[in-house]
Formats: sequence, structure tokens, C-alpha cells
Amino acid sequence: MKRFISFSGGVESTTMCILYGKGATAIWCDTGAEHDLMYERIDNVEKHLIDLHDGDFNLIRVKNEKHNGLEEYAMKSKYMPSGQARYCTRLFKIEPIDAFLSQQGDCELMIGFNADEEGRTGNLGLKPNVKYTYPLINDGLTRDDCEDVLKLHGLHPNFPVYMLRGGCRMCFFKSEKEYKAMYHLNKKEFDKMVLFEEGLQDKRLKFHSILSNGKSLRQLANDCETERAFLKLDDFSELYKSLKKETSCGAFCHR
Ligand code: SF4
Repeated sequence: MKRFISFSGGVESTTMCILYGKGATAIWCDTGAEHDLMYERIDNVEKHLIDLHDGDFNLIRVKNEKHNGLEEYAMKSKYMPSGQARYCTRLFKIEPIDAFLSQQGDCELMIGFNADEEGRTGNLGLKPNVKYTYPLINDGLTRDDCEDVLKLHGLHPNFPVYMLRGGCRMCFFKSEKEYKAMYHLNKKEFDKMVLFEEGLQDKRLKFHSILSNGKSLRQLANDCETERAFLKLDDFSELYKSLKKETSCGAFCHR
């Protein structure tokens, strides 16, 4: 039976690739709206894991073949995804992965919930040919255990704070603080999101903000500049160190 790993690039799924990846294929789904650092990480992990498993490991990238990425889809439809209209996960994560798995015959898909998350099943499709398994839970591996495994292999993602929740750079689950951190730590990517948000607007003159409080990213940039002038810090990562990882996204959304 073919063995697949639901791979997001994060802590748990990378741990699965290390511990259970020999002879398996990791599936990574590209929404087309991933952070630049995520694309780099996927390439790095792929190289490392192929070496680790003596070539007996594969990583494949799947995407929605009908649309040219989540951001372009949102811009064209003038419709920002949200918690109530979460078409992003359905169209750009679940459906491409389910379409791929449908072609594989009887197979196993390993899901990276850890032992602290027992009882979760995730936002998965339920394909009759797929056996969904939870090896980290079965082996009693907690988040801390997974982090230890990654540190041993030099593969801890150590994502910057603005990537703690949600893989997509325009994810509506990110908080105002997370977007502020993005401004200070990766202004180039933040600026792209300003243009994306402004490109989303339609003729109804209702502002469609990424942030749930309605504030535009351009306004947020002004707040950040005030903050920068006031605080005069060299390293803004310290300021956002206390941000905690949330688990709003499901199994296919870079938790
Ligand atoms: S990371 Fe956020 S924007 Fe991207 S698919 Fe998941 S919920 Fe949607």
C-alpha cells in the first residue's frame, strides 16, 4: 500500500517525514500564496530528507490546477476568504489533495496531530480509498517531543512570528500584531499584501480588509511607522516574541 504524509513544512509534519518517511511520499499543497520562506523551507526539507532516507523518500507538490493561485482567485472574484467563507482551504488545499489521493488506489495518509491533540481529526476530505492514520498520537509524541526531534536533525522551522498561524501570507487568521510583525520583519512581503488588499476592492465601495477589525494594511503601515519612530528599536523580533501559536487552521493549513 502506498504511504503518504500530509506535509505542511511545520513541526509535526516534518517530524513525521523524519520518523516515518522512509519509503513514503510527502504531499505538500501549494496555494500559490505561501510565504517566500515556506517555499525555501520545502526545498530544504526535501533535500535533507532524501539524504536522510538514502533516496527512499519523495516529496510532491500539488496545487489547484484550475486556478492560478489563491491570491489571483480572490482578486478576480473580489472575494476575500474568511472564517465563514473558507473557500481557500477547500479549493486550494483539500480538493487538490483529495484529487491526487483519488488516483492512488488503496493508500495511507499520515496526519500530523501530536499526542496533545488526541481527538482531533482535521479538515480532511474522507476518501474511501484512503486510510487516515495518526502516528504521532499512536507513538505518544507531544509537540515538545517533535521539536526535540527536529532540533536533533537541524530541521526546526523557526518561522518568524508572522508565520506562526496560517501558511498563506494573506491569511485572515493572522492577527493585527502578526501583520505588524510582518511589517517590521519582512516589509517586502507586507507591501505585497497592501497591494493585494487594495486590488481586492470592488465597485461597492465597501472596504474588504484582511484584518477582521476592518483596518486596512496601509493604515496599519502608518501605525507601524509611528511605532518605529517612537521605539527606535534595531530588532523588532523581540517586541513580538510573546506572540503565541494558535491552532485555527486545520490539518492542511500549516498549523
Ligand atoms: S492558511 Fe489561511 S488563507 Fe491559507 S488556506 Fe489556510 S485558512 Fe486559508
